[in-house]
Amino acid sequence: MQKPTLPQVPGTSYFHVVFTVPHELNVLALENPRLFYDLLFTASAQTLLEIASDPKHLGAEIGVIGILHTWGQNLLLHPHIHCVVPAGGLSPDHRRWIRPRYPFFLLPVRVLSRVFRGKFLAGLKRLHHGKKLQCAGPAAALADSRQFTQLIRRLQRHDWVVYAKPAFGGPMQVLRYLGRYTHRVAISNHRLLALEPERVTFRWKDYAHGGKQGQMTLVATEFLRRFFLHVLPKGFVRIRHFGFLANRFRVSRLALGRQLLASSPSTEQEVRTHSVSSESSSLWHCPRCGTSMIVIQRFTAAELSPCMYFDSS
Ligand SMILES: [Zn+2]
Repeated sequence: MQKPTLPQVPGTSYFHVVFTVPHELNVLALENPRLFYDLLFTASAQTLLEIASDPKHLGAEIGVIGILHTWGQNLLLHPHIHCVVPAGGLSPDHRRWIRPRYPFFLLPVRVLSRVFRGKFLAGLKRLHHGKKLQCAGPAAALADSRQFTQLIRRLQRHDWVVYAKPAFGGPMQVLRYLGRYTHRVAISNHRLLALEPERVTFRWKDYAHGGKQGQMTLVATEFLRRFFLHVLPKGFVRIRHFGFLANRFRVSRLALGRQLLASSPSTEQEVRTHSVSSESSSLWHCPRCGTSMIVIQRFTAAELSPCMYFDSS
C-alpha cells in the first residue's frame, strides 16, 4: 500500500471534507469498483478545486489529499472520500497566498454537495452511455437505459451528504491522521470482541442514530462477506493528491506556497486556531465510518450561523 505524503503547508490550518454517495449506487460500486471509485475521487477533487477557484468563494488554486473509505461501522458498503484541504491556496497569478475569508469556513457545503452530485452523476452517465459500466448481478436492471435514467433522475432530486470541518490544526496533526488512520481496512483489531467457531462479535457505533454504541454478532461467513466488500482491485491507489499537491508539481508548488505564506502573516483568529488545536486532544468521528479525528475548535450555535460549514439537510 502506498505511503501518505506529508503535505506540509506551514502557517496554515487544514479542513476536512467528506463526500458520500447515496446507497442506491452501491450495486454499481460492487460491479465496477475501479471505475466507480476513480469517479468518486475525480468528482470530489474537481468539485473542491472548481469551487475554490471561483472568486465568489476563495479564488485560489488549492491542494487536496483524497482518501477512499468504502465501509461504515457495520462493515457494510458505504463509499466515501475524506479530503484533507489546506485552508487557503495560491492566487491565479501565483504571486500571493489567499486565505479563507473566515478562519473556520473554507467553502459552502451546500454548493459542494450540488456540484459534487452533478459531476458524479454526469460521470456515471458517460460511463453508462459508453457501455463501460458492468450491470450484472444486483445491478442487472440498470443495463436497461430507461431504468438507469430513472435512477439518475431520482438521485438528482435529493441533496447528497457532504460534511466539512476544520479538523486539523497543522501539518503534524495531518501527519498523525494519515499515519494512524489511512492504512486500516474496514475494521481495526481493537473493535473485535469475540471469535467463536461460527460467529464474530465486534463493537460498533450507530451513527445513523446518534452514535449509539453497541455490539454486533455476525455468523462468520457474513462477517467475511462484509469484510471482502472492501478489498479494492489490485494496485488501486486509495490516497491521491490533487491541485497544488498533485504529484507532478507538488515540490515546486509547495515551495512557492511556503514562500508566499511567509510574506502573508496569519490573522489573529488563525493564531488562535493554532493554539487551540495544539492544546486540544478531543476527538471527532467520521460521520460515515467512525474514524477518529481531531477537533480543533467547538462553536456555539450563534457562532455557527454566519459560517454554515455544516449542512444540516
Ligand atoms: Zn471514513
